Amino acid sequence: MLLALWAGVEAAFPLRRRVQTRARRWRINAAIAATASMVIRGVQIPVALAVAAAVSAAGVGLIGWIGIPGLAAGVLGFVLLDYTTYVWHRLNHRVPFLWRFHRVHHTDLDLDVTTAFRFHFGELALSVAYRAAQVAIIDAAPVALLTYEIVMNAATEFHHSNTKLPLRWERLLNLALVTPRMHGIHHSIVERETNANWSVIFSWWDRLHRTLRLDVPQDAIAIGLPAFRRPQELTFRRLMLMPFGGQRPTWQLPDGETPDRSLHTDPRRLVA
Ligand SMILES: [Zn+2]
Repeated sequence: MLLALWAGVEAAFPLRRRVQTRARRWRINAAIAATASMVIRGVQIPVALAVAAAVSAAGVGLIGWIGIPGLAAGVLGFVLLDYTTYVWHRLNHRVPFLWRFHRVHHTDLDLDVTTAFRFHFGELALSVAYRAAQVAIIDAAPVALLTYEIVMNAATEFHHSNTKLPLRWERLLNLALVTPRMHGIHHSIVERETNANWSVIFSWWDRLHRTLRLDVPQDAIAIGLPAFRRPQELTFRRLMLMPFGGQRPTWQLPDGETPDRSLHTDPRRLVA
């Protein structure tokens, strides 16, 4: 439902010009989404829920230890899940083994709502253990975890969507939330722009860690990774095999150049 809504809105008010036809990308992203959802729904959520129930019952973990009542505990659990998911996203870029898998998500040559489902099943399989550890340490209640999963999904669709919001609205929203322009910069082929904006729901975490960058104009952004500019290479089969075997350097264009640009503006000021 939400997916169809965003697809309609982004077609009516596009933010960035597409470089590929929708039909081709959507076919590939739908195939990846099918494998991804088996891991998320079949393994990740059931395992995390079981851990949440066990930890809640045992009264161990951070929130149980602090001993705050129901609703406040739920809100704290939700917020801490989002913070630790920021850390996970950052690790996915920083740890070479995790990057092998996460970079499949970043090879998309356009960004739209379907990119929100383009995750290699290996990345999600690895995240099963991380999500279970998050829940166990935080002691997030099952209801806080389920709410987080639902809101995270909606937020991921929103910030990947190619929707042009009025700049003023987006500046306001971005004080609290990750928005499409902010996340578009994270998908830039310029390495230092990709190494920014790791937050998922709340944009606070990037503000807190000074990893926020909002001053890149959207029409200056090329979406994707320098090493994978040719659509012929980005078939479903090749993307599934991409994390395994030899890895070509991510940040070099086929001609050997490394894309970069220097900005002398305020990185905390969102531009169009
Ligand atoms: Zn990323």
